Amino acid sequence: MSEENFEESGKESFDVVYSCLRCGTNVSNTELTRLPEIKCICGFRVFTKVRPPVAKTIKAI
Ligand SMILES: [Zn+2]
Repeated sequence: MSEENFEESGKESFDVVYSCLRCGTNVSNTELTRLPEIKCICGFRVFTKVRPPVAKTIKAI
């Protein structure tokens, strides 16, 4: 049992998700900032902000 609360520290929440207007790929804000330039894997650079229904995001693909 190991649960960590990431929202404990930091004033900015990172659970902002952007969706590519072209292919619809969801990219989180943290992933975008790690990239050298704001760009989707398809090459498109226009994103729309997506609000996740739940605050907690679970990586289970
Ligand atoms: Zn795309």
